[in-house]
Amino acid sequence: MKAEWIPGRVMRLQSGFYSVETGQGTFVCQVRGRVKRRRDRTDFIAIGDRVQVSLLPDGSGVIEQVEERRSALVRLDPRPGGDYRQILVANADQMGLVFACAHPTPHLRMLDRFLVICEKQSIPAFIVANKVDLVGMQAAREWFGRYEAVGYPVLYTSAAQGLGIDALHSRLQGRLTGLAGPSGVGKSSLLNAVQPELGLAVSEVSQFTQKGQHTTVVREMFALNGGGYVVDLPGLRSLALWDTQPEELDGYFPELRELVADCQYNDCTHQNESGCAVRRAVEDGAVHPERYISYLRMRFGDAEVPEEESEA
Ligand code: GDP
Ligand code: ZN
Repeated sequence: MKAEWIPGRVMRLQSGFYSVETGQGTFVCQVRGRVKRRRDRTDFIAIGDRVQVSLLPDGSGVIEQVEERRSALVRLDPRPGGDYRQILVANADQMGLVFACAHPTPHLRMLDRFLVICEKQSIPAFIVANKVDLVGMQAAREWFGRYEAVGYPVLYTSAAQGLGIDALHSRLQGRLTGLAGPSGVGKSSLLNAVQPELGLAVSEVSQFTQKGQHTTVVREMFALNGGGYVVDLPGLRSLALWDTQPEELDGYFPELRELVADCQYNDCTHQNESGCAVRRAVEDGAVHPERYISYLRMRFGDAEVPEEESEA
């Protein structure tokens, strides 16, 4: 029986059916009951999962087994009563966080929050700063240079002018990447620039408010020519930090993580304590003040730590 199973990859979820790409083609599959029972309060199958399928005479398939995941980007299901864990992408090698340099204005609190989620879930992150053509490189670096300083790769791109597309392409090549970002930043345009055959719909500027709206939520993974997969994730807004203790937070900011050992008290919150190495680093300019405010707001709440800069 097992000899008839073939390995595949879940590419698409659609109303209870799963499209699985295999060496023999792509098959629409249902799921064997025992697979569903295996996981508790967590999606039993997600996009990116490696699975074993058996093929039926009618050309469809059945998912018989889900292989162990190397990583999972998980969120709590936002629906009421929800302690249900939704897996947005399984086995991602990396997350690409896409923001625009303008239109919409980069929401860096959101980026900081999302970087923490990636750190927490142990998925390496890189940043795409798109629409560089609108502001120029110097202004783009003023927004995003702080992340390069911390060690996150930043790709400066313009889908409109074809800038930085090769660099993006080579970063995506051969890896499974989850792409996330507010809508309107140019994710679809970038993917089309990397691989025109994808033919993703690009929204007209006029459809977006400055805040951005999410249009479609299709759960689908794209295969890249020459290897690699990209999953277009739903809007960042829907991803919340959960299951995180306040004391862990400094460990999810790389630039704070390395300072913590030098704080005078080992349970330092890095807010008011004297002898705090983090506060000293902020005063010295070694830690970017906006990153520090993001840390404080995530640790103590947005209401407790008001915005100081115009940069919301
Ligand atoms: P998505 O919602 O992130 O998938 O964004 P889209 O790809 O649909 O793009 C939203 C709008 O931004 C469209 O009007 C695009 O033409 C525009 N756009 C995308 N990339 C760029 C860019 O690099 N520069 C400029 N100026 N506009 C862009
Ligand atoms: Zn401290």
